[in-house]
Amino acid sequence: YDLRNEDLKELQELGQGNGGSVKKVEHTPSGKIMAKKIVLIDAKPSVRKQILRELQIMHDCHSDYIISFYGAFLADPNICICMEYMDKGSLDGIYKKIGPIDIDIVGKVALAVLEGLTYLYDVHRIIHRDIKPSNILCNSSGQIKICDFGVSGELINSIADTFVGTSTYMSPERIQGAPYTVKSDVWSLGISLIELALGRFPFSDSSSDSDLSDDPEGTLSPRRPPSVGPGLSLSSVVNGGARTAKKTSKKDKRKSKGVSLQGGGMTMSILELLQHIVNEPAPRLTPEGRFPREAEEFVDACLFKDPEVRWTPKDLLKHKWIDRARTETIDLEAWTSTF
Ligand code: ATP
Ligand code: MG
Repeated sequence: YDLRNEDLKELQELGQGNGGSVKKVEHTPSGKIMAKKIVLIDAKPSVRKQILRELQIMHDCHSDYIISFYGAFLADPNICICMEYMDKGSLDGIYKKIGPIDIDIVGKVALAVLEGLTYLYDVHRIIHRDIKPSNILCNSSGQIKICDFGVSGELINSIADTFVGTSTYMSPERIQGAPYTVKSDVWSLGISLIELALGRFPFSDSSSDSDLSDDPEGTLSPRRPPSVGPGLSLSSVVNGGARTAKKTSKKDKRKSKGVSLQGGGMTMSILELLQHIVNEPAPRLTPEGRFPREAEEFVDACLFKDPEVRWTPKDLLKHKWIDRARTETIDLEAWTSTF
């Protein structure tokens, strides 16, 4: 497709994220329905062009588990990325609508994400960097695909300058400033799978830390897991400065709620959540016995806090639970017709 903004008719707003908005559009010359992501980039023309060049790699990404790419263009001051439209939306929206997702379907999600990650890494040496339910999409043919992976180094940098894409799906080592590896994606996958199976973000009721589960207003169990604002070095904050936050009494803590640090939009509660990820045991698929043993073990293998011990996507594709998911005969198309 030769994409021009004036050929794209907006049909519907699909959602808004931290980085911009996504619209359902029709490419009028071809009649093709697409999803158009509009990313506001505050960067020099040379940098924008570089980003556009880097995004072209997506033209070479062909996998049943990766959203197809139709093209990208500049529409000052934005960059528009046109991609395959997935008519059932993202898994966060789906579980918020229908409640916890059946564990056998979660197994199919795990399989699809691992296939997608392995494709991206083996064929293109791309690390996804942003695995979470809102970046796993479904369509009414029963396909599950991942989107929003980090193809463009320049885009990652530009976005980082305006708002940091740090989220609570981040691995402990990333929070502490270690570079991204495929194993950071595996951690994010583990957190996402628990979220889908439980129907809620897993750090919202941790039995290992009464401090966190005792949060009456639910500030620590946000509907939408928080991201971190600009201007803060996460690793320094988590490892040093704000440590004392943990020691404050409940009363003090409540008082400090919603107070944003350095105007960056980072509140104490988000900080505590990140500290929790670094300092406390990883979440698990609980209560014990509710889910198949293999599913529990799979999630544990994703959530080893030590990245050396954590499994790689390749290892995980050979896991017993994934073997089972492969041969599982659930009709995903029928499932998607229920919502
Ligand atoms: P964040 O900005 O924190 O990463 P996000 O992933 O929700 O959050 P966006 O990537 O901007 O933000 O997407 C916004 C919403 O648009 C998503 O939650 C998803 O439901 C919807 N969406 C994104 N891409 C598509 C697509 N290709 N087809 C259908 N819906 C989509
Ligand atoms: Mg997204």
